[in-house]
Amino acid sequence: MTEIPKESKVDPRITKKLREIMGEKNATAAKHIRYAYSYDMSFVKPKLPDYVVMAETVEQIQELMRFANLEKIPVIPYTAGTNIGGLCIPERGGILLDLKKMNKIIKIDPESHYAVIEPGVSHGQLAEALYAHKLRFGWPVGPPSASVSSCAINHGIGGLNARYGLNSQEITSMEVVLPTGELVRVGSCAIVEDAWHSTLPLPKLDGLFKGWLGGTGIVTKLGIGVHPIPPFLKVFTVSCDNVEDMYSYMLNLSNYEICDDLTAVSWWLAQVPIPYPYREKPDEAPEWFSFANTNSFTQKEKEAREEIWEMVVDEEKKKGTSLKVTQYPEEALRARTQLPSQIVGSTKNYCKMAGAGISWPGTFTPANKWAPVYTEWKKLLIGHNLSPSVRMSMYRGVHYGMLRAMIPFNKQSADETENARRAIVECLKIDLDHGGIPYKPPVDFGQEINKRAHPGYLMLLRRVKQMLDPNDIMNPGKLAL
Ligand SMILES: Cc1cc2nc3c(=O)[nH]c(=O)nc-3n(C[C@H](O)[C@H](O)[C@H](O)COP(=O)(O)OP(=O)(O)OC[C@H]3O[C@@H](n4cnc5c(N)ncnc54)[C@H](O)[C@@H]3O)c2cc1C
Repeated sequence: MTEIPKESKVDPRITKKLREIMGEKNATAAKHIRYAYSYDMSFVKPKLPDYVVMAETVEQIQELMRFANLEKIPVIPYTAGTNIGGLCIPERGGILLDLKKMNKIIKIDPESHYAVIEPGVSHGQLAEALYAHKLRFGWPVGPPSASVSSCAINHGIGGLNARYGLNSQEITSMEVVLPTGELVRVGSCAIVEDAWHSTLPLPKLDGLFKGWLGGTGIVTKLGIGVHPIPPFLKVFTVSCDNVEDMYSYMLNLSNYEICDDLTAVSWWLAQVPIPYPYREKPDEAPEWFSFANTNSFTQKEKEAREEIWEMVVDEEKKKGTSLKVTQYPEEALRARTQLPSQIVGSTKNYCKMAGAGISWPGTFTPANKWAPVYTEWKKLLIGHNLSPSVRMSMYRGVHYGMLRAMIPFNKQSADETENARRAIVECLKIDLDHGGIPYKPPVDFGQEINKRAHPGYLMLLRRVKQMLDPNDIMNPGKLAL
């Protein structure tokens, strides 16, 4: 059975005040609603919030924060709750602040190539609006219902990362409500109200709110860079029998910077659903598959990219690697290359056979450590009867990228959930020791990071948190601070 969270203390005086601030229909302490916000798909133990509120305006959020700060009640920002690291699970109870009603696309500037959105705007919603202008953004392979801003402010990964960098690098301006209730702006919109085009050349204060997992303030408006959609898509697909050969190909190809996305997935991640428990790969199947998306504005540009890719393939073959040019099944290819996608974004495709649990060691790892880390992960995960369903993606700049394992498990069983948690944390330690850093880290990961951190880094982190959130009420406990 899934664990039932412990009951918390609800104070009718607080509920009454929350209704006054947020409106009668936007605040509740009803247990069945709180229960729905007490868990996610990850191995993190469920915990009940004491109250759930939905915001409709920035002013409501400001008043809420002033009240919560006065009463020293934790506030947990939430949009769709699809992170798979327990990031919205209230470590210390408090008020769950659901922002999905604030879902206006405030502006799309098709000339200057940026958009301004509210926190509840989903990837599916923004994709539809941008397509009308022939524009795009880096859509993740996650659920299309998830929030664009939550992904971007937490260093999320999308389908244009090899070309433009992480989604957090696309942030151009921000409006934020501080834990103490003040409204602040960073980037060009701080100087001219309607200018949302850049965080530079001002001091980069956006860093105060990026990668903090909602621990320093509530982002209420976000400017992001958007890009024209080139009409010619060409996806190059290859397979290799081992991780070393796949890394060699990816490194070689990434040096030419022709890809929007350069990703490889292990055989286990290529299965729908990912096998749970571990299943052996058939001997004749290659262990790694790669898809490299390239987008061009003209036929000639496309042909030039093809020429480079063919050269890389020839070079890799001459090295004697196991690389083969392969066809990816058409539907699977469409699902992975035409995002946002309901096919890969649908969680059931990852874990419906497993019992609805999924977590990851998701990391930014030096590319030359992918092969040794994967080899150790594979042994460890198989030892736990879990699939080594691993993905490697090059980010812009080549020298590092994403290394992550998507691990389904049976959340109906406490033992199987604990088995997955232990395996994932062990994987993470291996990666950290090779210089990798986890993104969107659950508290268990935060503890491992902090154990290895320079004391000056931890001091600075605590000082910034203390300055912005003196009563430690914003999503407290995250980052294991
Ligand atoms: C099958 C699957 C595949 C996935 N693939 C990817 C992928 O390819 N790339 C990727 O990046 N992610 C991926 N994810 C993770 C997830 O979908 C993204 O992280 C998603 O964008 C999170 O959005 P959300 O609305 O669910 O955020 P939530 O889970 O609601 O919130 C995430 C964090 O942001 C904080 N937060 C939310 N709103 C605000 C705000 N306005 N101000 C301050 N803090 C806030 C929350 O407190 C929490 O810490 C995947 C998830 C699944 C289930």
